This record gives sequence, C-alpha cells and structure tokens, in this order.
Amino acid sequence: MQAHKRIVEKDAPLKKDDLIVITGAGGFIAGNLALYFKKKGFTNIRAVDKKPLYEWYLHVPSVQNLCLDVSVEENCKRVCEGAVEVYNLAADMGGMGFIEKNRVECLRSILINTNMVEAAYRAGARRYFFSSSACAYNTLLQKDPKVRALKESDAYPAMAERGYGWEKLISEMFCEEYWHERGMKTFIARFHNVYGPHGTWDGGREKAPAAMCRKMIEAIDKNDFRINIWGNGEQTRSFMYIDDCVKGIDLITHCDELIATPINLGSSELVSINTLVDKVEKISGKKLKRSYDLDAPQGVAGRNSDNTFIKKILKWEPSTPLDKGLAITYKWIAGQYHARKAGKRVGIG
Ligand code: NAD
Repeated sequence: MQAHKRIVEKDAPLKKDDLIVITGAGGFIAGNLALYFKKKGFTNIRAVDKKPLYEWYLHVPSVQNLCLDVSVEENCKRVCEGAVEVYNLAADMGGMGFIEKNRVECLRSILINTNMVEAAYRAGARRYFFSSSACAYNTLLQKDPKVRALKESDAYPAMAERGYGWEKLISEMFCEEYWHERGMKTFIARFHNVYGPHGTWDGGREKAPAAMCRKMIEAIDKNDFRINIWGNGEQTRSFMYIDDCVKGIDLITHCDELIATPINLGSSELVSINTLVDKVEKISGKKLKRSYDLDAPQGVAGRNSDNTFIKKILKWEPSTPLDKGLAITYKWIAGQYHARKAGKRVGIG
C-alpha cells in the first residue's frame, strides 16, 4: 500500500446542517444510511437514486430526494453542488445470480464512481466515501470453504471477481489517487455480504440470507417444504447486519488514519450456506427438504473478513450475531411477503 505523502490537515467537525449527499439511496444500504444520519440529527441530506421514487425501499422524512442517473457527468455536478460529504453507494448490483450473469452492467458502474468522485472534488467536498466489495479480493485465495479470512493486502496481486470485482478495484484506485494527487479525503470500505430489513428479498438480485428467509416463508405459505440450494451448500460466507454496516461507514469516513486506505467492513462469523438454512429452520420452527443445484451460480468456495485492521484502527468491528440479525430480517420479509399477497404495494426490498 502506498504511504501517505500528504500532510493530513484537520478539518472542522461536520455541522448538523452541512450538506450530506448519498447516492444509491433508493436501495438497501444507502437508504438505511440516510435514515442513520437523519436519526443522528443531520438536517441537510440529499438522497439520490435513478429509480422512480415509488420504487425506493425507504422514504426518509424531510430528506431531499432526487431521481437522477449518476453515471451521467452533468447529473453528478448537480448532485454534488454544495456537498460537504459525499457517500457514493450507487451501483448496479445483486447477489451471485445477478453479478455472474450481468458483468457488462456491473462494469458499467465504473461510470458512476468516475463521474461522482470528480464532481465531488470540483464541488470542494471535504470527504468522499466509496462502497467497495469483498469481490475485489483475489479469487485464487478463495477456493477452499475453510478459507483463511481475507486481509486488506489480499487484493493484490489482483485477480478480482470478473466484472463486478474489477469495477470495484479500479474505482478504489480512482479514490486513492484523488487523495494522493489532488488532496480530497477519500474513504473506501470493502463490504462483506450485508443483510437486514429494507434489503432486496425477491426478484433475482437478493442475497443468500434474504433468499433463504423468503424460500422458507413461501414453503410455509404453500405447504411445500422442498428447497433448492445453489451449489453443495458447503460454500462459506460471513454476513453483516445492516446496523453494523451504516455505523461502520460513519466511523470509517470520519477517521483520518483511513484516508485512501481500503478497509474490510464485514462480520467475521463464518457460516456455510447449509448452516444458514439450519438457522432459518430454527427461526421458523419448520424443516426443509433440501436439494442441491450444482450448476447454479455460487461464487467463490469460501470468503471471510479478517477484522484485525479495523479492530486496531477503530477499536470496533461489526458484531451483531447472525442469529439475532436473521430473526429480525425473517420477520420483516414475512411482513413484506404477506402484505404483497394481500395486494398491498411493496418494493421487492
Ligand atoms: P442496492 O441495489 O439495494 O442499491 C443500489 C442502488 O443504486 C439501487 O437503488 C440502484 O437503483 C441505484 N443505482 C444504480 N445505478 C445508479 C445510477 N447510475 N444512478 C443512480 N442510482 C443508481 O444495493 P446495496 O446492497 O444497497 O449496495 C450498495 C453499495 O454497496 C453498492 O455499491 C454495492 O456494490 C456495495 N456492496 C453491497 C454489498 C451487499 O451485501 N449488499 C456487498 C458488497 C458491496
């Protein structure tokens, strides 16, 4: 990792009425981030997403909502006008099923960060956050389900996930150089799977925890307890609860030691997909008859977050137990499922 050559000047603490810009805010994490800052008492939040407003997962009261495509340079200028801090979470993304089949769309997200980081810089934003991903890590290190946890230096030599992972890696580099060459404070978190209420739970972009909850709820509803699992179920992952994610974004973005330094933001509680299904069975009190689709998209064999660095710098790490977060998520998805069945309008998130 390149050493910081710049002197870090201390800036004024964020005032409650300073403008915070959040992109991707019609989606899961950025929507929850807008809510988090609102609850912290910030009064000047601009939430941006390309989706029409009625498709946003969360509508946070008294936040300025803009429906704009931030892959377009002109829109980014408008979005960043007056911004003190910019959080760029917009991306075309989904679970493994989506990113393995939509590499072009994932790669095209490069336009989003490229235009957003430049617009934030030109607008004089003090801090810029970019949401990277564990998919930026070298895939050759993730061939064993008993994977050793990934530490920040494992991204290089680079062999990222095709499409989505490479886009994240190049966007990280953009952020790093906007600090080294131009002096804008940038922050980069590599998220490991995030789950929780107000996330995608149906439609093909949902990730494993939401998919498993929905499949169980559907099974109970239809009285058909068969479940098809992608892969052999032994692939491992860690899953971070949304509240830990938004808190982590805040802590990282306000820590000058982390300028232009990618850092893991993930849980280190490693579970197999079979264990995830066990947990959903325990929550619902029902058993599923499992079958395995070995041809379905399943991603790397194993992936976990090494939290040594985040614990050292922030004296904190995501710690919500999967059992607890999953129970809350299950209840929320069940509510959404039954509301939709009753003909009420719900998002798929
Ligand atoms: P999400 O799909 O729920 O939200 C992303 C939002 O970005 C969507 O609402 C989408 O409409 C919007 N968007 C896409 N292209 C846009 C554009 N050109 N202009 C404006 N808005 C646009 O996804 P999420 O789970 O909330 O992910 C947020 C960020 O975190 C993404 O950058 C994603 O790559 C990253 N990430 C998420 C996870 C996870 O587990 N959810 C893991 C690693 C990284």
